[in-house]
Amino acid sequence: MSTTERPRILVVGGGYVGLYAARRILKKMRYGEATVTVVDPRSYMTYQPFLPEAAAGSISPRHVVVPLRRVLPKAEVLTGRVTTIDQQSKVATIAPLVGEAYDLPFDYLVIAMGAVSRTFPIPGLAENGIGMKGVEEAIGLRNHVLEQLDKADSTGDEDVRRRALTFVFVGGGFAGAETVGEVEDMARDAAKYYPNVRREDMRFILVDVAPRILPEVGPKLGEWGLEHLKSRGIECYLNTSLNSCVGGHVELSNGLEVDSSTIVWTAGVKPNPALARFGLPLGPKGHVDVDATMQVRGTDHVWAAGDNAQVPDLAAGEGEFCPPNAQHALRQARALGDNIISGLRGFPQGEYKHANKGAVAGLGLHKGVAMIVFGKARIKLKGRLAWYMHRTYHGLAVPTWNRKIRVFADWTLAMFLKREVVSLGAMEHPREEFYEAASPVTAGATEEAAAERKTRVKESRAAANRDREEARAS
Ligand SMILES: Cc1cc2nc3c(=O)[nH]c(=O)nc-3n(C[C@H](O)[C@H](O)[C@H](O)COP(=O)(O)OP(=O)(O)OC[C@H]3O[C@@H](n4cnc5c(N)ncnc54)[C@H](O)[C@@H]3O)c2cc1C
Repeated sequence: MSTTERPRILVVGGGYVGLYAARRILKKMRYGEATVTVVDPRSYMTYQPFLPEAAAGSISPRHVVVPLRRVLPKAEVLTGRVTTIDQQSKVATIAPLVGEAYDLPFDYLVIAMGAVSRTFPIPGLAENGIGMKGVEEAIGLRNHVLEQLDKADSTGDEDVRRRALTFVFVGGGFAGAETVGEVEDMARDAAKYYPNVRREDMRFILVDVAPRILPEVGPKLGEWGLEHLKSRGIECYLNTSLNSCVGGHVELSNGLEVDSSTIVWTAGVKPNPALARFGLPLGPKGHVDVDATMQVRGTDHVWAAGDNAQVPDLAAGEGEFCPPNAQHALRQARALGDNIISGLRGFPQGEYKHANKGAVAGLGLHKGVAMIVFGKARIKLKGRLAWYMHRTYHGLAVPTWNRKIRVFADWTLAMFLKREVVSLGAMEHPREEFYEAASPVTAGATEEAAAERKTRVKESRAAANRDREEARAS
């Protein structure tokens, strides 16, 4: 972190809004006008709309993330977490990846911390659920699903097999419907290589408390999407909630009970809870309360946008707020960047107004739905054409030409080479085998010693998982 005489613009979060706002400011700023500092616990921005495809192996996970230091060479990028902000003295406290927390003064502030999975106190969910907000989860889910096929193929125990081949997805919005669609497609494809596993042996279950799925594309296309998923053998239960999943035993509100090793939670998002420590006015659902210029109400130096802000939707009408999606996040970020430059130079703020352009969703290879708003018309597409729209839109929307080219290259290669169906679950514990080899308890030792060694490996794995969870939760 550099000390600077220039005013500091502190951008909290290097996701969609953080990355695009910082780029815009740096582009419009005069040389030496300010220092732009971006703080994020990850050194990369994640293009979340590609996570389902990354989970299905259609895109390399590295290509759905954008390295912040590379795309923001003129910014100061700090890898860490903003834990608290003192608005009076204009000082943020940063907890770096390692070492002591430190204070960072700022003059202007951008709050762009996005959202976290919205969960409920459902017994067993924290221990057994997996989210779909980050690339780590997408990679983890892919490895996990393929590992279940490996397990099912190699066991004679019918209970183990049934549990391994039962996949439960909770939430049928964009993230849930796309993820179940992509993962089922991958598992169906992968089953060709397992002599003892057929698609008919697998059970895919989609649960949503709402009466329909994919609300983003409207009722008709949502209905088509639902029928499409059902036609692929995915059991869909609407108006249904997850009651419990202790030890992987899933109980739904409609009375269905199954045992499953895979419970994917995509039932919506809520604003980042860390906002409560930032001394800013929050709305009823915990979003930062901003006006249409994205300036935080009651301040003249703080802006917020994206999933963590309630930005009035001027195009939708009085009392409406922009929905949390990438379409708004990207445009808000640019408008916010312009407003910061105006604020810096004492010019008036511009209001954000954007009319919804529609939505596209992929449900697996060559399958999708798309709703495009064209003036007053709503063009509805489904199937292969919608899928092409989905890919074209997102292929062009992913930030930087470097990533666009890599993503299109992934898709092109996949047309000629078969989909990769290898599980690299061991990558999550790369030290385990070496630990066993290097452990002071040598080969040929007693069974007790071997058991002890196994327990130690398990404990070290659990401790690593705990550390990761704690880091995430804080
Ligand atoms: C699986 C999935 C699929 C989606 N598909 C679509 C789609 O098809 N179309 C669409 O329009 N939208 C889609 N979305 C929604 C879209 O991705 C989000 O609306 C968008 O990313 C919001 O941008 P943001 O900048 O507000 O938040 P994010 O992009 O989430 O960025 C927030 C950043 O803040 C950082 N952060 C968190 N806490 C701290 C802290 N304490 N200190 C510093 N930094 C912090 C995070 O690490 C992260 O990098 C999808 C989302 C998901 C999860």
